[in-house]
Amino acid sequence: MSNIILSLCLTIQIQLKIIIYLMWINLGKYSLKKLYDEPVRKEYRKLQVDSMPVVESFERLDYLQLLKEYFAEHGKPLKPVSRRKGCLPVSEDILCPKCGAPHSYIYRNNGKAKNTQYLCKVCDFTFGNSTDYLKSVALRCPHCNRVLERIKKRKDFNVFKCKNPKCSFYLSNLKRLSSEERNRYIADPQAFKLHYIHREFTIKLKPLSKESPVMPDVDLSKIHSSPYTLGLILSYYVNYGMSSRMVASIMRDIHGVNISHQTVINYGNAAAMLLKPFVDNYDYPLTSSICGDETYVKVNGKWHYVFFIFDTIKKIITSHHVSPNRDTVAAIKAIDDTLSKYKEIPEKLNMVFDGNPIYLLAQHFFASHGIHFDVTQVIGLTNDDPVSEEYRPLKQVIERLNRTLKRYYKSTNGFGAFDNCQNYLTLFTTWHNFLRPHKSLGYRVPVNIPGVTKLPNMPAKWLELLDMAQYYILEHQAA
Ligand SMILES: [Zn+2]
Ligand SMILES: [Zn+2]
Repeated sequence: MSNIILSLCLTIQIQLKIIIYLMWINLGKYSLKKLYDEPVRKEYRKLQVDSMPVVESFERLDYLQLLKEYFAEHGKPLKPVSRRKGCLPVSEDILCPKCGAPHSYIYRNNGKAKNTQYLCKVCDFTFGNSTDYLKSVALRCPHCNRVLERIKKRKDFNVFKCKNPKCSFYLSNLKRLSSEERNRYIADPQAFKLHYIHREFTIKLKPLSKESPVMPDVDLSKIHSSPYTLGLILSYYVNYGMSSRMVASIMRDIHGVNISHQTVINYGNAAAMLLKPFVDNYDYPLTSSICGDETYVKVNGKWHYVFFIFDTIKKIITSHHVSPNRDTVAAIKAIDDTLSKYKEIPEKLNMVFDGNPIYLLAQHFFASHGIHFDVTQVIGLTNDDPVSEEYRPLKQVIERLNRTLKRYYKSTNGFGAFDNCQNYLTLFTTWHNFLRPHKSLGYRVPVNIPGVTKLPNMPAKWLELLDMAQYYILEHQAA
């Protein structure tokens, strides 16, 4: 008897495999992928990020004034450059970026070389093309000190390159090529990155300037359910990660409260809007050890990236920035969310991220604004690595969020709107920072507000937080 059952089971298993295989052939690889709609961990673009350039800011001078001073000191005028025969002329549109002296006062500093550097006779400034200057700042190669040339202008950034053929950085990269690679390089120089490159981000973001919080006009007292019902809904919806439909049916079946799943979403949105200014501007006791990672959420059927940043010791989420792109601008905004939560940026602030170069570029962006921190990149994230030990709590938070959100992807097409998604993440962060006991914190919550923690149950705790958030808004609207 048991033999028959066993062989039947085996037959069923084989048939199942055949069915899956046939489906795969019929629907094609891509449709099957759609069937199991999961985010794919896409490879980020590998990009070598070079060290920071030397930033030289200079005072703008007036060459006419300088010529006058020269005359007063020497008793004779400063003569324009006399060019020897056979010397290439300096074209008329070349002006000194520092003092504005015209071409007649400009030397060619490197003779006939293709990528000319100039020297101003009036103020002794060496420079490249005058387009390579950012108002009164020159970016120089950290390896050879030559002024970098702007070679590309993109929407959010400029690309600068050291074109010096004698630059030590270039020469040492060239040396490292095998003879076969060298031949390829000669045939197709674009295929290799040998010269020093710097990306200068031009996005309009003043780091650390907290936008004054947008104070929402939400009045939860006008909702039709009792406050306790609201607390219950938030507990199911966020703490237990139930979908809005599950929450609606549990409210109906268990608690006898008749609400629709849309009402659950509306209550969630209203609570999130109220909580956001409070949660964003809370005076968090942060340490100097931070880590971050990206995960995915689906908004309107499209995958978006959530940039989570997290205090590794206190387990406090400091950023949950959502962006349709996994780019440097998004990384900058997420890091800015985190940095602006510090009263003072700690001297030894270290941030751990995966190997994506966007984090190094973001670090350069902040450094160019005088804000410094270290970035440690963990590639591969194997668990025996000492750095990933620190990283693991973040991974766990992200996994928990992913498990919760998966239900959204399966039942619906993700979040219907970008705002719904952001609101859910605000609720998730509120829950994680203020309400969720953490094992590695001795089962304490990351941020202990005694007035909240002492309350006997979760609905009451949510209501107390909403109360505090409302008070925060009243206080700041008055100011
Ligand atoms: Zn000059
Ligand atoms: Zn150089």
